[in-house]
Amino acid sequence: MEQNKSLLWPQGILIALLALGATLSVAVMMLLRPNASEAQSNQNIDINNNLVAKVGTQKRIEGLKATMLTSWQQEAQAKGLGYTLAKRFQGATIKEAKLSQAQKVIALTFDDGPWPESTAQVLDILKQNNIKATFFVVGQNVKNFPELLKRVGAEGHVIGNHTWHHWYHVMNQQAAAYEIDHTTEIIYQTTGIKTNLFRPPGGIMHNGVAAHARNTKYAIVMWSSDSVDYSLPAVPKLIDNVFRQAKPGGIVLMHDGGGNRSRTVQALPEIINRFRKQGYRFVTIPELLEMEDKEQTVIANKK
Ligand SMILES: [Zn+2]
Repeated sequence: MEQNKSLLWPQGILIALLALGATLSVAVMMLLRPNASEAQSNQNIDINNNLVAKVGTQKRIEGLKATMLTSWQQEAQAKGLGYTLAKRFQGATIKEAKLSQAQKVIALTFDDGPWPESTAQVLDILKQNNIKATFFVVGQNVKNFPELLKRVGAEGHVIGNHTWHHWYHVMNQQAAAYEIDHTTEIIYQTTGIKTNLFRPPGGIMHNGVAAHARNTKYAIVMWSSDSVDYSLPAVPKLIDNVFRQAKPGGIVLMHDGGGNRSRTVQALPEIINRFRKQGYRFVTIPELLEMEDKEQTVIANKK
C-alpha cells in the first residue's frame, strides 16, 4: 500500500503539472497571439463587407428588375400586348381626365362594335384625319367580325372590353367573370392586344360586371360627353350633344356598332373639325390617363 501511495503521489504531481502546463500554454498562446480578438473582429468586418456587398447586389438586382419591368411594359405596349396604366387607375372608375384647362385634349370612344359597314366607315374617317381613338368592343361581335377588329388594332387604335353579350341584368360572380374574361381572351386571340380597359354596357355599375372588372384591376372607363347617338337623333342634334359637355380631358361616347350607325358616321367629320377649330388634340384613353398621371404626380410633388 505504501508503495502504491508513493507511486500515486508522483502521478498526482504529474497530473497537476500537466494541468498547469496546459493552462500556461493557453496563456502563452494568448500572449503570443494578441491578434486573436482582432482576427475575430476582422471576421466581423468580412461579414459586414459581405452584408454590404449583398445589400449592394440586392440594390443592383432591384434596379435591374425595375429597368426590366419598365422596358417590358414599353415593349408590351409597343407590341400591343397591354396598356400601361398608372396604379391610380387600376380598378378605378374614370369619367374624364383631371387636366388643367391648358391641356386641350379629348378622347373619342366608340362602343358596341365591331359592326359591318359602320366600323369600317369610322376607321376610314379616323385614318383620313390621322386620329387614334378607343373602341370598346363586344365579345360576340369580335367572334362574328374578327377581320374588322384586326383592322382596328392594326391601325393603332386602342381596344377596350365591353363584355361578351352586352347584357344589363344582374349576374353572379361566375357569369360576370365570363363576360369580361372571355371577351379579353378573344380580343387577345384576334389582335394580340391584352386590354385592361373596361366599359360597362349601359354604364351600369351595379349588376356584378363592373365589380369583377374592378377586382381584376381594369380601368373602368365611363364618359363625360354623350352623343346619345343610340337614340338616333338628327345629325346636328347629335353634334350638339357632343359639344354641350365637351371639355379638356373629356371622353366622348359614340357607337360604331350595335345598330344603324349611319348618323354617327355622318356626324363624325364635323365633330372632328369643330374640335380642331377649338384647338383640341385627339388622344386615346391610355394617353389621356398618362397625361392625368403626370399632372397629378407634379401636383403631389409640389405639396
Ligand atoms: Zn354598349
